[in-house]
Amino acid sequence: PPATTPPTGVPAPADRIAIDTSRPHPARVYDWFLGGKDNYPVDEELGRQIVALEPQTKYCARHNRWLMQRATRHLARTGTRQFLDIGTGIPTAPNLHTVAQRVNPEARVVYVDNDPIVLAHAEALLTSTPEGATAYLQADAREPDRIAELARDVLDFTEPVAVSLIALLHFIPDADGAYEVVGKLMEALPSGSHLVLTQLAGDFDVERTAQAVEMYRAGGVTLVPRTKEETERFFTSTGLQLVEPGIVWLPDWQPHLGVDEERDGTPVPLYAGVGRKP
Ligand code: SAH
Repeated sequence: PPATTPPTGVPAPADRIAIDTSRPHPARVYDWFLGGKDNYPVDEELGRQIVALEPQTKYCARHNRWLMQRATRHLARTGTRQFLDIGTGIPTAPNLHTVAQRVNPEARVVYVDNDPIVLAHAEALLTSTPEGATAYLQADAREPDRIAELARDVLDFTEPVAVSLIALLHFIPDADGAYEVVGKLMEALPSGSHLVLTQLAGDFDVERTAQAVEMYRAGGVTLVPRTKEETERFFTSTGLQLVEPGIVWLPDWQPHLGVDEERDGTPVPLYAGVGRKP
């Protein structure tokens, strides 16, 4: 396939995408936390409520992006050339393919999100090196079979693929198949493939987290914090081996790989982990 492919699985041309501005969307609230411009008053309103509850939220969001960069750098440097990033979010520099292709220009990256706002800005995700490839799929993470089928146009599933579910799984309840989704995705991939994830902690400042869950719920968004054990189960239930240092607080995952990060020791109540399929 060519280096950049037009978005796939798209229901309507990008200029006719319906953006629902009557209720907050996770991608847009997160964009607001990051200081982006692709959000609406409803998103900012929920964002401000969350920041009033937890003043470090913006710091945590930035650390989540930095974790994505460190994990991608680690994987690219240890030989991973294919990436499947699900729940990719509104483009934010640097995007995953930029980090991967800086290490390996031949890296091939497929991005997936189900929010039309991400599709509307997907061209920023399609700026591949000529040697590599990027593609964008409009799809729901709860349809792993469809994602695997569509991603095969760009990725070779006989070679290792790194699946990243970064700040995604806390929007997918167990009842919606969170663990089964991870299981199916990893099952479709060969030995040497990886899983990268970050997950809002359910066992840190439990009371405040419950208030955050309620604020999101009032906005129509389901937020699912998980304990360290529940987070680890995404790896153990799929037979993955955790890469050092295991499941840790976001900023503590291989901090030496960080570039231009800011750290002041503030707790970041999200777990991070990377696992390898043996
Ligand atoms: N991974 C990015 C963005 C995290 S925000 C980062 O960590 O920086 C969470 C993203 O997941 C949003 O863009 C939201 O639209 C997307 N998302 C939530 N539920 C989803 C689902 N069921 N299928 C696909 N994407 C989903």
